[in-house]
Amino acid sequence: MNVIDEICAKAERSGELAPAEIVELLAAADGSALMLAADRVRQLYVGATVWLRGLIEISSYCRRNCCYCGLRRGNSSAARYRLTPDEILECAQQIKAAGLGTVVLQGGEEGDARLGELLELVRRIKAETDLTITLSLGELDFAAYRALKDAGADRYLLRFETSNPKIYAALHPEGTLANRLECLRRLKTLGFETGSGFLIGLPAQTLDDIAADIRLLKELDIDMIGVGPFIACPDTPLAGEPGGSVELTLKVMALIRLLTRDTNIPATTALGVLEPAARRRALQAGCNVLMPVFTPQTAAASYQIYPGKAARRRELETELAALPTDLAAIGRVPGYGPGFRISAMQNER
Ligand code: SAH
Ligand code: SF4
Repeated sequence: MNVIDEICAKAERSGELAPAEIVELLAAADGSALMLAADRVRQLYVGATVWLRGLIEISSYCRRNCCYCGLRRGNSSAARYRLTPDEILECAQQIKAAGLGTVVLQGGEEGDARLGELLELVRRIKAETDLTITLSLGELDFAAYRALKDAGADRYLLRFETSNPKIYAALHPEGTLANRLECLRRLKTLGFETGSGFLIGLPAQTLDDIAADIRLLKELDIDMIGVGPFIACPDTPLAGEPGGSVELTLKVMALIRLLTRDTNIPATTALGVLEPAARRRALQAGCNVLMPVFTPQTAAASYQIYPGKAARRRELETELAALPTDLAAIGRVPGYGPGFRISAMQNER
């Protein structure tokens, strides 16, 4: 057995690797053994189901200025919109009608400005659709998160983006890594199923940084783990930067599956934007969630976090119709239920 195979076997057996071993796997030219091991662990811990979550991008207004993001406040060429509560509810009804069990409301960070409206919206979605509700609306204080939980929200997604405080500070003119992590702790305390993750291929990010990112996810016991390649966006300070690669992203996803076992890991849109076939490869390298976009077409065209994102919406109907067959081809089945993280013990065979 060569050293790469040995480290893969250790990860598959124990779910534990030292930082240097993680780096060794990330640096290896061939990631195929790693991805096969992740696929086996995925089958063992979370089975063949690919959970579907319907995504609604509710607003492109943002008060923050993250250097990588097309929706940053300073991007005057970004088109801005806010869906009305009725429009959002209609999308949620479509998600329900398509048979999905979860709605994800995502948007730029608007703070408390829209909190009252949002609380009412969460209550209405719960009462009228009974969907599991995931929010991804950035940093809020404890009271706001608590009010959202009380209104019926079940889950919250908040990526820490990078665990390296220097890179975090360089890319976020406002906000600190410490507060981001504090928000994740608040969310967990309140009983949200919590999602986090990071960007791959940020300027100055090393493989050691990525190993630390993966270990932080494990340490925080995050339930849903979204990682994706950074894709440079025009009209942002990082325009023209090389960005993350498909191969490195797939290796990171595989490592996350091996080291976290029973988490929910989406095959993220950004990966599919870089290479359409890559999302299927991600499902075969540890991932078990897809998030089809239900944002109305006109708004979706303006939700340009990175180039190419908006184009995904047009494929929704075809994508959903083809999904059971596409997934069957790789031995998988679509999951229409809420798809909470279940304990490894329940899932051991
Ligand atoms: N405003 C919220 C949610 C919307 S942004 C928040 O920031 O938490 C959702 C995610 O998009 C971010 O967490 C970030 O990881 C990702 N993102 C932003 N710009 C990106 C880019 N240029 N390439 C790839 N992903 C990006
Ligand atoms: Fe706003 Fe989120 Fe983009 Fe940062 S990543 S600028 S918080 S939408």
